[in-house]
Amino acid sequence: MTQNVDTRPQPLSAGMIYCHGCGKPIHESARSCPHCGAVARSARSGRSKWSAAILAFFLGGFGVHRFYLGQPIVGLIYLLFCWTLVPALIAFFEFIYFLVISEEKFDQQYNR
Ligand SMILES: [Zn+2]
Repeated sequence: MTQNVDTRPQPLSAGMIYCHGCGKPIHESARSCPHCGAVARSARSGRSKWSAAILAFFLGGFGVHRFYLGQPIVGLIYLLFCWTLVPALIAFFEFIYFLVISEEKFDQQYNR
């Protein structure tokens, strides 16, 4: 017996993204999903906690994640003291912090 229900994801046409709330395709410029009402991530300034975590882990000693998060002054301080390795230590704890906080909390702090 063949099933008529196609559960495969529909191919996206140009300019469409998947809603993170319901998974349906919505236009990338949509501020919220017309299907479920979830606020589209692309409508925010779009910093991701995963990018911040990766930057903090690999380049945190140079404050790169702080530049990414829109805090160039703090990033500069990391850069100035990178030779002490203290910023690398702080960045490692920030890496863990970025991993454990929720995306909502991250957005509240860095995507306002
Ligand atoms: Zn949705």
